[in-house]
Amino acid sequence: MIGIVIVSHSKKLAEGVQELANQMAQGRVRLAVAAGIDDPDNPLGTDAMQVYQAIESVWDGGGVVVLMDLGSALMSAEMALEFLSEEKRSNVRLCEAPLVEGTMAAVVAASAGGDIEKVLLEARGAMLAKAQFLGVNLQKFSAISPLENNGQLRETREFTIQNLMGLHARPAAQLVTMTNRFECEITLKNISQNSNSVNAKSINQVITLGVRQGDKILISAVGVDAGEALSALQALIASNFGEEVLSIPTTSPESKTEEKAEEKALLGNLRGTPASPGIAIGPVFLYQPFLHFKIEQKAENSLGEWENLQQAISTAKNDLESLWQKTLAPTGQQESAIFAAHLLYLEDPILLETTRRLIFQDKYSAAAAWKTVIDETIYDYNSIKDPYFQARGADVVDVGERVLRLLTGVENQTPQLEEAVILIAPDLSPSETVQLDLKKVLGICTSAGGATSHAAILARSLRIPAVMAVGPELLSLEPGTILALNGETGEVFINPDATQLEELQLEKDNELPQLLSNTRANEPTLTRDGRLIEVMANICGIEEAKMAGLAGADGIGLLRSEFLYFNKQTAPKEAEQVKIYEDIAKAIAPYPLIIRTLDIGGDKPLPYVNFTPETNPFLGWRGIRVLLEHPELFKTQLRAILRVSDRYAVKVMFPMISQVMEILAAKEILAETMTELRQEKIVFNEKIEVGIMIEVPAAVAMAERLAGEVNFFSIGTNDLSQYVMAADRNNPKVATLADGFSPAVLRMIQQTVKAAKESGIWVGVCGELASSALAIPILLGLGVDELSVNVSMISEVKKIISELSMAEAEIIAQDVLELDSAAAVREYVGSLFWVE
Ligand code: PEP
Ligand code: MG
Repeated sequence: MIGIVIVSHSKKLAEGVQELANQMAQGRVRLAVAAGIDDPDNPLGTDAMQVYQAIESVWDGGGVVVLMDLGSALMSAEMALEFLSEEKRSNVRLCEAPLVEGTMAAVVAASAGGDIEKVLLEARGAMLAKAQFLGVNLQKFSAISPLENNGQLRETREFTIQNLMGLHARPAAQLVTMTNRFECEITLKNISQNSNSVNAKSINQVITLGVRQGDKILISAVGVDAGEALSALQALIASNFGEEVLSIPTTSPESKTEEKAEEKALLGNLRGTPASPGIAIGPVFLYQPFLHFKIEQKAENSLGEWENLQQAISTAKNDLESLWQKTLAPTGQQESAIFAAHLLYLEDPILLETTRRLIFQDKYSAAAAWKTVIDETIYDYNSIKDPYFQARGADVVDVGERVLRLLTGVENQTPQLEEAVILIAPDLSPSETVQLDLKKVLGICTSAGGATSHAAILARSLRIPAVMAVGPELLSLEPGTILALNGETGEVFINPDATQLEELQLEKDNELPQLLSNTRANEPTLTRDGRLIEVMANICGIEEAKMAGLAGADGIGLLRSEFLYFNKQTAPKEAEQVKIYEDIAKAIAPYPLIIRTLDIGGDKPLPYVNFTPETNPFLGWRGIRVLLEHPELFKTQLRAILRVSDRYAVKVMFPMISQVMEILAAKEILAETMTELRQEKIVFNEKIEVGIMIEVPAAVAMAERLAGEVNFFSIGTNDLSQYVMAADRNNPKVATLADGFSPAVLRMIQQTVKAAKESGIWVGVCGELASSALAIPILLGLGVDELSVNVSMISEVKKIISELSMAEAEIIAQDVLELDSAAAVREYVGSLFWVE
């Protein structure tokens, strides 16, 4: 027999309807209620898990019809279907009939033994009898705007996803961040794969939809701000989620590497998936963290357990935010966004709600509830057919373990490496990968995983050769065994013999000249119409300086010197700094090295400088503000910079300048330092170039005055965007607002360049914007002389510049300044360069 479920915001209302229905059906129909929520202060609401349990309770094999009141009741009912087995789901129908009339008609039809279609038909026709009685023509009302739904706005739109990898972690994270900004309820359906609707505010549900490039999706929003939400989503999708898809290759970068591997005859003893190119040779180090979580299954104090979970989640979020920041510099915005996605897992409403229910209703301990829900989510990922989306399950494992460790007090085990090794492991999580000591990890080889895992993506951008999915034999290698791996072919050699070693070494030596010839390192970068643009590198230390040299950088446009001060108990001494600056300058010579003086504060505190907690660290004591109050720290650094300036083309740059008096004060300290050096008979470049970062709107407003005091400007679009848009660059909720493509930021760049040109000084851009392919024509068109970019982008940026002409760049720049949003700017430039 068909069971009936009544879903309502109000428990009282649902029980009243149930009472009436029971009277009609005389106890012959199985009826259940899912109404209200478990919150004494605010009991009105609906809950997908309750709906699911109600369906299960009336299920006897025949089928179930669900009747709902309004708004979120529909969403909860749709979501509840997700929890059912496939077989049950196909025999459950959600019925749009009005709750009271529909339920009465449905129970009557069910008690008469009607099948599911008959029960549905009767419920749907329930209004007819009432209308006829009152003499109302229902037809007349069918033209009521579909946008009006019980006073709520309903909007539905269809989109095609263009991103190369579909709605993978990064765009999914952006979509979920965007949907969470709106009050309305938003669902998403993959029309091309005929999926069910899922909650678009849940990162897990959005990713497990497995939306691929070219798939059509349907987004529906119900609520007061439904229209606004859909317009924002439309703009986000039109911008391809900020991914610069200039052309759509027929194969993904990963599969290309795999194809290459197949072309060659494979010689290694073991073979895996090539994940990050390069040859690595060294002793193995087995990293097999065995995380054993001792978990109590049940706990009586549900509230206490829930609070523990909240605390663990909040600590995990703070840790992830630091990781996000840490990866931003070496890997660039895109890869670091992996951690932004991890933050969203911790805010996933479905995941949290299911855990909450296990704690309060089933009396699970926080750890047991969290583990159960994470395991179920991982199972969902493993069930996706597409291997790319399946690989995203590793992110859930990573986030899940992070919280479990905090709940159970199990310590994180980062491999402690004494010497340079090839790290072998069952698999690596993104968190583990970024915590590796890059100086000691020559290569990575895992028994599981794949080329599309985030660990592989990070290895590629950190330029660590890697081979994944080699198989379990890998893990039985004795410590100290010599392993050689070829990240291009996927070959792995165990204790390679002399001939193999020689061949591999030869190939390894060839990597460097190849990098040089690919990027025309020795040639200046000219636009098609002959304008010279310098392409410099942003670096944090010597390793990147060497790579920048090999990749053909025209110099170092930004040495973030603060990275040399981190992980220390005291500030590095003058001699230590001289050595580091000298090594870096030598690695890039004869090209210039711009050393930015310490930019601490904001999100980068130093343990040995006394930072008192601030409500808004980004608006607080940072950059030049700290230096001017710590002349001893400042002078030591200036002395070290000056001492290298006599032998190398070194320039000095001050961060976070917002007032003319700050540059005057900084120059005064520089002059004092020079006097001291002269007295000590230490030679230095008396004419060292002095520049400032333009990264505060006040500096843009005062650019003509500031330009009179310095030799160059370097625009820091990362900070400039956050300050112009009043959107914290580290806050995932608003980080997308802090977008350098925003016309507001672009106009600021225009104003800065104009002031620089009028004073005859050169101007560069060293923020992340300069590393975005779509931004290059705009920046060139605005008159920027130099771009300082991520090391991994140097050759691409050079190539793009050489394909542009200044004439077209200037037109593009003028056009985008007139647009209204960052999305419109991206769409406009993207449409010009879209190559099929
Ligand atoms: C910037 O703000 O754009 C910049 C390059 O500096 P940082 O990212 O180090 O703050
Ligand atoms: Mg900055």
